[in-house]
Amino acid sequence: MAIKDIRLFGDPVLRTPAAPVTDFDKELRTLVKDLEETMLDAPGAGLAAPQIGVLLRVFTYYVDGELGHLINPDLDLSEEMQDGEEGCLSFPGIYADTPRALRVVAKGWNMHGEPVTIEGSELKARAIQHETDHLDGILFIDRMDRAQRKLAMKAIREAQWAGEPVPQVRVSPHSTFGRAL
Ligand code: ZN
Repeated sequence: MAIKDIRLFGDPVLRTPAAPVTDFDKELRTLVKDLEETMLDAPGAGLAAPQIGVLLRVFTYYVDGELGHLINPDLDLSEEMQDGEEGCLSFPGIYADTPRALRVVAKGWNMHGEPVTIEGSELKARAIQHETDHLDGILFIDRMDRAQRKLAMKAIREAQWAGEPVPQVRVSPHSTFGRAL
């Protein structure tokens, strides 16, 4: 298990559709554990494999104390919608109203290759839709109405991380005993 770098908006991997999982093997279980650990560390309510650079249809979520994951999800959405603020770990500090279906029934597989059905409403439904979108290369800005998207894009352009490479932590060979230079 390891905490992975989260890819930020602008990285082409976030716009690339992910492939279905076909092998429910040890590698897949490691991917799920890496996603869980990276999501909990961030901390976030959901994380999809493309956000750590892996183009497979896998996501994890952590909503209302429930930690879960889903592989090759297939969603059934309610017609009733919800509005509310949404954020994304690939857009640090950006939050905007994003319409979503109020309820979702998601069918898929767990990491052991067993069929599972996950049901949720409100935040859980929002997280499942947001993460499944990531697997299709769709981002939350695509789901906003025009006015919200315009505001979000302005905030993104002004964000410090926009257009910059993902910051890397460098370990100096000369120890400064924890003091920043
Ligand atoms: Zn996201």
